[in-house]
Amino acid sequence: MYDIVIIGGGIVGLATGLKLKEGNPDLKIAILEKESKVASHQTGNNSGVIHAGVYYKPGSQKAVNCRTGYQKLLDFCDNEGIKYDICGKLIVATRKDELPSLENLWERGLQNGLTEMKKISADEIKEYEPYASGIAAIHVPYTGIINYKDVSQKYAEIFKNRYGGEIYLNTEVERLNETNSKVEVITKSSTFSAKVVVNTAGLYSDKIAMLSKAKIDVRIIPFRGEYYKLAPEKNYLVKNLIYPVPDPNFPFLGVHFTRLIYGGVEAGPNAVWAFKREGYKKSSFNGSETWESIMWPGFRKVIRQYWKTGLEEYYRSFNKTAFLKALQRLVPEVQYKDIIQGGAGVRAQACDRNGGLVDDFLIVEDKFTFNVLNAPSPAATASLAIGESLAEKIRTKLNLIYISAKEPHLI
Ligand SMILES: Cc1cc2nc3c(=O)[nH]c(=O)nc-3n(C[C@H](O)[C@H](O)[C@H](O)COP(=O)(O)OP(=O)(O)OC[C@H]3O[C@@H](n4cnc5c(N)ncnc54)[C@H](O)[C@@H]3O)c2cc1C
Repeated sequence: MYDIVIIGGGIVGLATGLKLKEGNPDLKIAILEKESKVASHQTGNNSGVIHAGVYYKPGSQKAVNCRTGYQKLLDFCDNEGIKYDICGKLIVATRKDELPSLENLWERGLQNGLTEMKKISADEIKEYEPYASGIAAIHVPYTGIINYKDVSQKYAEIFKNRYGGEIYLNTEVERLNETNSKVEVITKSSTFSAKVVVNTAGLYSDKIAMLSKAKIDVRIIPFRGEYYKLAPEKNYLVKNLIYPVPDPNFPFLGVHFTRLIYGGVEAGPNAVWAFKREGYKKSSFNGSETWESIMWPGFRKVIRQYWKTGLEEYYRSFNKTAFLKALQRLVPEVQYKDIIQGGAGVRAQACDRNGGLVDDFLIVEDKFTFNVLNAPSPAATASLAIGESLAEKIRTKLNLIYISAKEPHLI
């Protein structure tokens, strides 16, 4: 019998396990992960950016958790010796019609406490990024780069080795059985009984929630983000991070240039509807998962409303010249031969019944379960803050008080 079983060993599940153990080291907690290593999906295939919190609606879960999670992440990395670099980024407007959105971002950033941002004129852009071009920009000095696999592995290591938490790899949850007093979490080869189950299954979080008695009114729609890499001899074109002004209608940031913490520069990711939840290739296809997305009324509304943007994204996905064009708006010197096909990640984007792509983080609590149903970017940056607030909710449910791990004998 476990106090808590966490389904999904991505960064959010691992951070939640860690924060629970930090507060109550005696809790018996298991994290179940279907892959052979942690951070195999969204967490291990993301852009590796430590977001500062410019984009998010002031007061939203994203804004609050990004700001607090940012500092917690940096403190954690300092204490545990994880490499990161607060290198700053530019958000660049390349057309006049983007200026109002750039101004909105400036206001949001200020409201979110980013007082050190700077407005940059067209000429000043070159001082930060000599090869970038635009008509105006914002410099965000707080933004950084990191490798979230490193972070996740450290969360896992501390959870297991320092606090005695259990992590079961190659362990896919297939069923949940709720009785009056507990939940049975059933995998192919074993059953784990728990007082509370935390569902952080990312791309399959809606499926796991539907195995429980929780009532949910969203479905996960997978959006693949494909990357190119700059040819190594062209890395000089990008010093740090160069972003466009995002389309305010979409929860994605637009293709950008990102310097990676272990060297190299990535360009992307785009956002195409994936025909498979864990479909990392253009050819990936799963008939029943595609059908499920189409059958969800909310997603049909998204298709009706945004089919033109969707088609443009597909065109860019299959046509390198079109992808290049988007990049050249930010760095005109980059040429066709300078970009090489890179990897891809798939975002778990919750879509509600009415056709809304859910913007904020979404956690649905039921009698025995906590279901994290929307944890898109910046959830990696915010992981420790999300983990801490989930841990606090779970303590309340289990009538526990926080006992500092550092002073376990005081209470
Ligand atoms: C392309 C891309 C770029 C991004 N860039 C950034 C960025 O720069 N900065 C940032 O802060 N965020 C970024 N994000 C967002 C960030 O990566 C995610 O918000 C975060 O990784 C979500 O973590 P998670 O633990 O919820 O999900 P995941 O990492 O997807 O973990 C879920 C886990 O659950 C497991 N699982 C699923 N079903 C089962 C089951 N039945 N049984 C057992 N285990 C199961 C999966 O195998 C997986 O390991 C990006 C995301 C993508 C896709």
